Amino acid sequence: MALIEDQTYQPKILVIDDEKRIRQGCSKILTKENCLVDTAENGETGLKMIAEKYYDIILTDLMMPGIGGMEVIAKVREQHLDTVVIVITGFATLEHSIEAMKKGAFDFIPKPFTPDQLRVVVSKAVKMTRTLQDIATEKTRLKTLVNYLTGGVLVTDKSKNIILYNPALLRMLGYEGETLDDQPLSALTTDETLTGIIDGILGLNPGEFKVLSAEIEPHEKGERQSDQLYLRAQAVPFQNRSGEILGSVTIIDDITHLKKLDEMKSAFVSMVSHEIRSPLSTILSQIKILMDGLAGELGAKQADILGKISLKVAGLVALSNELLDLSRIEAGLIVQDKQQVQLMDILESLVGFMQTRAKEKNISLSLKRANLPLIKADGKSLEEVFSNLITNAIIYTPEGGKVSVTGKVKGDFVDIAVSDSGYGIASDEIPQIFERFYRVKTQKTRYIIGTGLGLPIVRSIVEAHNGTVKVESKEGVGSTFSVRLPIS
Ligand code: ADP
Repeated sequence: MALIEDQTYQPKILVIDDEKRIRQGCSKILTKENCLVDTAENGETGLKMIAEKYYDIILTDLMMPGIGGMEVIAKVREQHLDTVVIVITGFATLEHSIEAMKKGAFDFIPKPFTPDQLRVVVSKAVKMTRTLQDIATEKTRLKTLVNYLTGGVLVTDKSKNIILYNPALLRMLGYEGETLDDQPLSALTTDETLTGIIDGILGLNPGEFKVLSAEIEPHEKGERQSDQLYLRAQAVPFQNRSGEILGSVTIIDDITHLKKLDEMKSAFVSMVSHEIRSPLSTILSQIKILMDGLAGELGAKQADILGKISLKVAGLVALSNELLDLSRIEAGLIVQDKQQVQLMDILESLVGFMQTRAKEKNISLSLKRANLPLIKADGKSLEEVFSNLITNAIIYTPEGGKVSVTGKVKGDFVDIAVSDSGYGIASDEIPQIFERFYRVKTQKTRYIIGTGLGLPIVRSIVEAHNGTVKVESKEGVGSTFSVRLPIS
């Protein structure tokens, strides 16, 4: 069997021994095995050669006049971590060879040795150097990759010491101090959100995997308010083979441009919908004048056309109203006026108001009364929430169906549920229905007119009250939208 399996690899070997016979013997045997061999007749020359050239493997005699093998090992360990040292020694110095191994020698070969014994030891060493070099290459590759990533990278061990980071991270967090290698996380940041998600990851149970993400409190990168930096962090654990958590990896993204874009988009939508709304309302009232015959008698065909136009324009007015609402909610302009409100009163008057609409479709609309505590909320906005949910329940339920509204107290929360026996929503569509403009298109619902803005408005208002909204639904059976609001 060849000493080196990969014939393109030529390990560089240095043999340091004061016995010429050994130097020549080793050189001859190893050169035949495709190694590049240099020799040195003493420790001094050996160290000089090591300082000038990199060797994969060094074979050194332990006992030499002047600088001995121990010193050679110590120097190599200091300068070249991935060089493997093999000690050549006489039988009498077995203890020394054990000591040499403790100092970092990889193996030893007792004198006198046969060519085969030398081949076996060097072959093992070659495998070792290749592994060490692979690890070193992997490390450099990782370091280069991490350094050139535009996102911030932060790796900590289990005790929250920093073991890897990149320049992007330092730039984002505004760190300008000393090197952070092996420093505690607190040397880099005291941001509670960031340390909080890292703590959360390190506190996971063995084998548990979770991604924790959070937006870091924006901080200024310059003097002006517009220079604020918005960052989003995502942390995950890394584990050993048995699932034990060894540390955390956090990626930080600069989302300032997204935030800016979102703000600009909201401002634009708000401006456009505001500008469109009043001319549309004027058009609607003018059409009404025509339809009422106040500008002269209309023929049946003309009235029919105007009726269709007026329906479309009314749809546009509704769309611009909803767009305006949504951009106002997102800008934090609505839900500012919080007072003690009685939710049951709001629900009662809404359900009463919606009865006509329900009756038109022969739908039974009911409210189960319950004693609910007062909650601090913006009554008008909550009215909009439940008006949207009840309207949807009626719209997306076929004739003869049922819609029921219930309210109950659950711990520190009030839960309001709007249930229907309607068309339901496919499970893969559920995550999308709260997105702006998203509408489920099925055979049964394709003719229903809507904007896809009702549920995003519902969610924004509920979240502005620190509440949550969730939906359970089964196609062909019905849906339940549940809103949970905190009592105090
Ligand atoms: P819109 O009703 O204007 O389309 P929404 O945002 O209120 O917009 O709703 C988004 C989509 O969610 C609707 O298009 C509909 O497909 C689905 N949806 C909402 N409520 C219900 C419900 N109660 N039953 C079935 N589908 C519903």
